[in-house]
Amino acid sequence: MIVTPPRIDLHTHSRASDGTDSPHGVLVAAGAAGLDVVALTDHDTTAGWAEAADAVAVTGVALVRGTEISTRVRTEGGSISVHLLSYLHDPGDTALRAECDRTRTDRLTRARRMTALLAEDFPVTWDDVVAQTGDDATVGRPHLADALVAAGVVASRDEAFATMLHPGARYYVPHYAPDTDVAVRTVLGAGGVPVMAHPGAGARGRTVSDETVAALAAVGLAGLEVDHRDHDDAARRRLRALAADLGLLVTGSSDYHGTGKRNRIGEHTTAPEVLAQIEERGRLDVIRP
Ligand code: AMP
Ligand code: ZN
Ligand code: FE
Ligand code: FE
Repeated sequence: MIVTPPRIDLHTHSRASDGTDSPHGVLVAAGAAGLDVVALTDHDTTAGWAEAADAVAVTGVALVRGTEISTRVRTEGGSISVHLLSYLHDPGDTALRAECDRTRTDRLTRARRMTALLAEDFPVTWDDVVAQTGDDATVGRPHLADALVAAGVVASRDEAFATMLHPGARYYVPHYAPDTDVAVRTVLGAGGVPVMAHPGAGARGRTVSDETVAALAAVGLAGLEVDHRDHDDAARRRLRALAADLGLLVTGSSDYHGTGKRNRIGEHTTAPEVLAQIEERGRLDVIRP
């Protein structure tokens, strides 16, 4: 008998942040793509967890509850945006909640500022942005992009990100995010398993050095997301070697955003042994059908 290993995708987004599917819809999409396990990892929130958990029995897809936390590494040349995936943490942990709340609040202020700057040159209003954002959702540039698409200013999120939403554009405003080392410690304190998302995604901006990854590993970083569409073969080889050197787990994921991005759910996957390690270390269990 041939036993096929479970297919596991550990990074997706729903309308609880900047994905276009509902949390339920993410699990439906996962099932349709032949996945056995999916992690819902919306930006700076756990708002989608309950709905996703309810979809486990219906879809037969197991759920890893996670969050993609916005963080920054400060360097002499400015700060580098680092996305830190946390898996299976206690959603009620006070310190982690406070950090995510602070980031979400400042994301709102920042989105209003960016909208005001955009409104100087384009026909968009704050109401247009709100209309594109799910209830309770973590607001981000993708929602501004959607408002610009709806107003006919650009054809797609991709076009908006390549032009007026780019960090180099005059409409760009940064938002608060905790230091990455603080976030790693906070995730560990909440019983979560911290994995650095797309550490080599150069197209998004500057990436962290091997020394920085080593320093984070010393603080308790558990893994690196190596197999991700934003990494070319050379970046994957380098990150795999770095993970081996530092004793870090290696994950692979799609970073699915529904129709908001090209990433297809399940396009990269994580080995079952790695998920077993994550579950062993995390405070929560994987929710299985
Ligand atoms: P923000 O966190 O508000 O600065 O927005 C960054 C988020 O936008 C990232 O987490 C990506 O998931 C998403 N993003 C980046 N580039 C694109 C793109 N070209 N199309 C759609 N979404 C994107
Ligand atoms: Zn996103
Ligand atoms: Fe990310
Ligand atoms: Fe993501």
